[in-house]
Amino acid sequence: MRVAVIDYDKCNPDKCGHFLCARVCPVNRMGGEAIIIDEENYKPIIQEASCTGCGICVHKCPFNAITIVNLPEELDEDCVHRYGVNAFVLYRLPVVKKGTVVGILGPNGTGKTTAVRILSGEIIPNLCGFNDSWDNVIKAFRGNELQNYFEKLKNREIKTVVKPQYVDLIPKAVKGKVRDLLKRADQRGILDKLIKELELENVLDREIQHLSGGELQRVAIAAAMARDASFYFFDEPSSYLDIRQRLKAAKAIRRLAEEEKAVLVVEHDLAVLDYLSDIIHVVYGKPGAYGIFSMPKGTRVGINVFLNGYLPDENVRFRPYEIRFTKKSERKSQVGEVLVEYPDLVKDYGEFKLEVEGGELYKGEVVGIVGPNGIGKTTFVKMLAGVEEPTQGKVEWELEVSYKPQYIKADYEGTVFELLSKIDAAKLMSNFYKTELLNPLGIPDLYDRKVEELSGGELQRVAITACLLRDADLYLIDEPSAYLDVEQRLAVSRAIRHLMEKNEKTALVVEHDVLMIDYISDRLMVFEGEPGKHGRALKPMGMREGMNRFLANIGVTFRRDPETGRPRANKEGSVKDREQKEIGEYYYVET
Ligand code: ADP
Ligand code: ADP
Ligand code: SF4
Ligand code: SF4
Repeated sequence: MRVAVIDYDKCNPDKCGHFLCARVCPVNRMGGEAIIIDEENYKPIIQEASCTGCGICVHKCPFNAITIVNLPEELDEDCVHRYGVNAFVLYRLPVVKKGTVVGILGPNGTGKTTAVRILSGEIIPNLCGFNDSWDNVIKAFRGNELQNYFEKLKNREIKTVVKPQYVDLIPKAVKGKVRDLLKRADQRGILDKLIKELELENVLDREIQHLSGGELQRVAIAAAMARDASFYFFDEPSSYLDIRQRLKAAKAIRRLAEEEKAVLVVEHDLAVLDYLSDIIHVVYGKPGAYGIFSMPKGTRVGINVFLNGYLPDENVRFRPYEIRFTKKSERKSQVGEVLVEYPDLVKDYGEFKLEVEGGELYKGEVVGIVGPNGIGKTTFVKMLAGVEEPTQGKVEWELEVSYKPQYIKADYEGTVFELLSKIDAAKLMSNFYKTELLNPLGIPDLYDRKVEELSGGELQRVAITACLLRDADLYLIDEPSAYLDVEQRLAVSRAIRHLMEKNEKTALVVEHDVLMIDYISDRLMVFEGEPGKHGRALKPMGMREGMNRFLANIGVTFRRDPETGRPRANKEGSVKDREQKEIGEYYYVET
């Protein structure tokens, strides 16, 4: 079975020499019609039945607009939804089970949101034909666990609630005070409990317009949970939350399942997903072209299968390599040249006071920064950069700092290429930056896109690239993982590490995804204290010491999965949790 997908946002028949694909197609040249031209819409259409899958059009199209894939015939009957001719195809759906949290894990663009839109009743799946009724869907799912679900959905016996992915967009749709929004949502009468649990007391009287991303995220989770429904969908609940908040949100979401609700969660922070889910579906495919939901698996196995890139029971290898989290060897950067040695510093804003323990940063290293939001991380770097004058202590150098803030705005009129060229056109053309940064982050594919029209994940990759293209001594990158999938998180981590090492620069990376912190950091800086009131920045320390210090603060222990080396949070009060706490090893224990 052949699937041909054309990205019409990229296709530009006038700029490729007038429908180049149709002119080079061997079937067309022999008088056949694999590619026809839709004169009305001025675009090519690939007729999958006539196409031989030779791939010539794929390689010739100057804009990489065409994808052709050969898929097993059996999949044909599992086709759930296709957005249109030569558009994205979704195969199979996740299960929805009462009393169960079902986790979904897979790359962006493989149909996770599409599945959520189907299961929430927002779109009737067309079964890849011209179907537009729930009756046909029910017929097609006869004997499947979802048959009953769709029957209820059709009869409106199921109420669903969706916590959307992009919480930054909420202020555009909803105005007013947080308290009023939450009160309107509170059909279950559990608001007081949620406010406490998600620590929303301080934002209740604030306007939604004035909330930070992390606050919006917690308000959105609370609003979804407060509604009375049988099925709850959470699309990336952890973006912008610090680790403690992530685990609290995860606990709250888990409680829904304990109350016999069905819960579906899309999440790319593997430690959180692991902690949250009872079962996992891996989604694989080719982003933008097709996506396939795997059979459900136990959480540990599901995440490992995803990292292994291989589904044993379906005998499908969906990634040519395995992802492993192994202990890094100590890096040379720790004995490299000192970038800066800073003394004890204090910054007193009145309401907020930050104390910094003197320390040093080395050239070529990546220092992970862990700690809650609002604890003074940005203030610390501003002092290093000489932007903020310390209240006590002296900063006697001038470091050039390049900064990627936690919340990024698409306030640039123009294309990605124009934006990045203005920063450094030469680097954009250099092979070094192409290999180390631009290609791994998939930036060339975005060159012609308008910055304002990028999705959250695309914008994040562009913002990270922009930050790394600037000349600086010190790079401060705040939550690079937001809206990125697991592979993109690893690609970003590798890019940052390689650039720092090879250019002998220093990066401070604020991150809340434990696996990414583990993967990216040479050393750790721990920030402690009370967010918004006082913070204390400890000097950079080794990974083991830093993770122990930080995890002891939040009372969570991690073990390593023996197969993949990934860190897994221990259940609170479990034997491992108690043992590790007793010996003070919150993190690096093997097995
Ligand atoms: P994910 O949630 O896994 O990132 P989505 O379900 O949002 O993936 O999207 C999968 C693919 O479907 C994307 O490539 C997207 O471009 C495409 N798609 C989404 N909505 C539409 C639509 N309304 N029409 C055509 N294509 C769409
Ligand atoms: P983080 O980067 O850890 O999220 P920040 O350094 O941005 O934290 O802020 C820490 C605290 O300092 C916050 O409560 C913030 O409101 C406060 N703060 C930051 N800048 C100023 C300023 N210029 N004047 C007064 N308070 C400030
Ligand atoms: Fe030209 Fe590519 Fe569009 Fe075909 S798909 S018309 S080659 S731009
Ligand atoms: Fe024609 Fe080959 Fe492209 Fe199919 S893959 S449309 S046969 S050029």
